[in-house]
This record gives sequence, C-alpha cells and structure tokens, in this order.
Amino acid sequence: MTLDIRLPESDLMALANDFLVAQGLNAPQARSLAAILVAAQRDGSWSHGLQRLPGTRDTMAHPQFNKQADPQPESVSPAAVRVDARFGFSCLAAERGIAVLIEKTKALGIGLLAVNNGFHSTALWPLVERIADSGLVGLSMNPTHAWVAPTGGTKGLLGTNPLAFAWPRKNNPPYVFDFATSAASRADIAMRRNNGQDIPDHWGLNAKGERTTNPAEVLAGAMLPFGGHKGSAIATMIELMAGPLIADRTSRQSQVFDEGVSAAPCHGELLLAFSPDILGGADAFADAETVFAGFSEQGARLPGDRRYQNRMKSAVEGISISRELLDRIRALMG
Ligand code: NDP
Repeated sequence: MTLDIRLPESDLMALANDFLVAQGLNAPQARSLAAILVAAQRDGSWSHGLQRLPGTRDTMAHPQFNKQADPQPESVSPAAVRVDARFGFSCLAAERGIAVLIEKTKALGIGLLAVNNGFHSTALWPLVERIADSGLVGLSMNPTHAWVAPTGGTKGLLGTNPLAFAWPRKNNPPYVFDFATSAASRADIAMRRNNGQDIPDHWGLNAKGERTTNPAEVLAGAMLPFGGHKGSAIATMIELMAGPLIADRTSRQSQVFDEGVSAAPCHGELLLAFSPDILGGADAFADAETVFAGFSEQGARLPGDRRYQNRMKSAVEGISISRELLDRIRALMG
C-alpha cells in the first residue's frame, strides 16, 4: 500500500468513528473499534489498520450481528471474569472486561478474562498492551476459522490462532509480541496471489493435501502452522483454551457459524494476567531487564520496537495513510 498522506490521530479517529456510526453501530462499540484500528494504523500494523474498515460492513451484515450490543462483565470466581460480547465486535467487551481483570489480578496475583460471542479480526497487541500499562503481564489468544491443517494432516482444522504477550517495563514501553500461529497470514497469501507471486512450500497445501507454492491453491486448500509440529501444538492449545475451556466455538464451529457471509470470525477470546509484584517480588522487573539488555548487547531487536518507532514518528508527523484508502472510506460513507 502506498502511504502518501499524514493526518493527525484525531482526524483518523473521527473518520473511523463516523464511518462505523454511519453503519448504525452504537457509540461505545464504534469508539472502541475505531481506537483499535487507528492504533494499528499509527504503529504501522497496516494489515490490521484502517484497511479493515470497509470490511466491517460485511461483518455487520451477518444475520446475527448486534449493532446495539452493550456487553457487561460478570464475575465468575475471585480470579475469573466473563464478558458476553452479545454478537457485537469483541473489542468493547474485552476492554470492559480488562478493567475487572486488572482489579482481580492486582488482588490475587493471577486473573482470567473470557470474552464470548464476539466478532473479531483486529490485532491482539493493543489490548495486551493495556494490561501491561497497568503493571501486569498479559497473555491473549483466540481461535479464528478452520483454515490451518495440523502437522501431518491434509485439511483445515485449526485457526490461524494468534497469540500475544506483554511484559510491563518501568522506563520503556512494554515488551510485546503478537503473531498468528500459521506459517504466514491469510492476507499475505492472498497478496502474493494478487501479485502473481509464488509462496514457500511450507506455507500450505492444495485441495489434495499436497504441499504447493501456488497461493491460490493454498487459499482453496489448507494453510500450515509455523514451526511444524511445535506450531501445530500451540495452535491446538489456543483452540482448546479459547474454545471449549471458556464455552465458546472452535475454529470449525466459528466457520459454520459464518454461514458463508465472510464476516470476521465470531468466537471467544481468552486473556490472562499475572502480577510480577505479587508473584515475582522485588527483583522481578530488574531481572527481566537483564534479559532485554541481552538483546541490545548483540544487536537483536525486541518485538514491538518497530511499532514503537512508528508510534513516535506518527506523534510528530501524523499517521500515514494512502490517499486511495482514504478516498475509498469516504466514498463508502456517501
Ligand atoms: P508476524 O509474523 O509479522 O510477527 C509479528 C510479531 O513478531 C510482532 O510482535 C513483531 O514485532 C515481531 N517481529 C517481527 N519481526 C521481528 C524481528 N526481526 N525481530 C523481533 N521481532 C520481530 O505477525 P503475523 O503476520 O503472524 O500477525 C500479524 C497480526 O495479525 C498480529 O497483530 C495478530 O494479532 C493479527 N492476527 C489477528 C487474528 C485475529 O483473529 N484477530 C488472526 C491472525 C493474526 P513488531 O510489531 O515490532 O514488528
């Protein structure tokens, strides 16, 4: 995507919010989703930024989508909180649950947030970062649609099942990683197909279950997990932890629920939080810093560094967006 304009964050927030409200989405959901998409655009997470805005119309067109959802946290146990997203976008439910998750974790050392029945296709890092901003460690995961074959298998069973982790740091932004457990994202494979490019043969299988370098065949066949049997096992753990463990859909069930509408996947999300102050004691943060220092000593970068650099540049120069995307969004608003 050509990024040829820079606009202030407040302009893009207003644009995204107005776009969603114009589709009939209630104000709290619109604000929450707009903020997450703009944060991704600001940090240079282009694939999960404002280019997702036009597709929210397909999601809101799902027969079960609830534009008026107003999710409320319910305490399940001293350590666990649940928020039913009520078939709206999941981010508002997650945000409201995180406030309770933080409270519980600060009291107990550990906390769990289950978000159910949310339509979800945003990046995970904005929400684990919020957990870290409160001085806690955050971990988040969710299933998607059954596009990924397990290692040794031939057809889709697992989701692209992202995993995000955040560790708070006293004098630096948190250490955060966030990635799908598939070898490549579906968007990357589609992009290669559109550009007429081949893909590496460990990214996916054709409809006969054979490895292929043809991206169109993978999109019609099955993707593969990253890291062979290890990624396959992590994706399976996510499928179980953010599915049956919290009484929500597996990736297969989420795909059936879609009814061929091509909405964002509707499923559960699991967020866990841990308190280094309670569990690790006085040296937890300082000891963690020695690990991070070991990266810079050998010239390795930390996950998150690229985003934080983009964030600083956006704060000074405005947020990059392509003229083409901006025009498309405005045209859809009529
Ligand atoms: P990548 O394979 O691009 O990996 C991204 C992570 O790895 C980031 O934390 C990134 O940090 C870090 N990283 C990348 N290169 C390096 C490097 N050389 N050294 C150190 N760290 C590095 O991500 P994916 O394509 O798998 O996923 C992209 C996004 O897609 C994620 O935000 C994920 O949440 C989202 N997603 C969402 C789904 C959903 O269900 N909502 C489903 C699947 C994916 P940095 O950002 O600083 O570059």
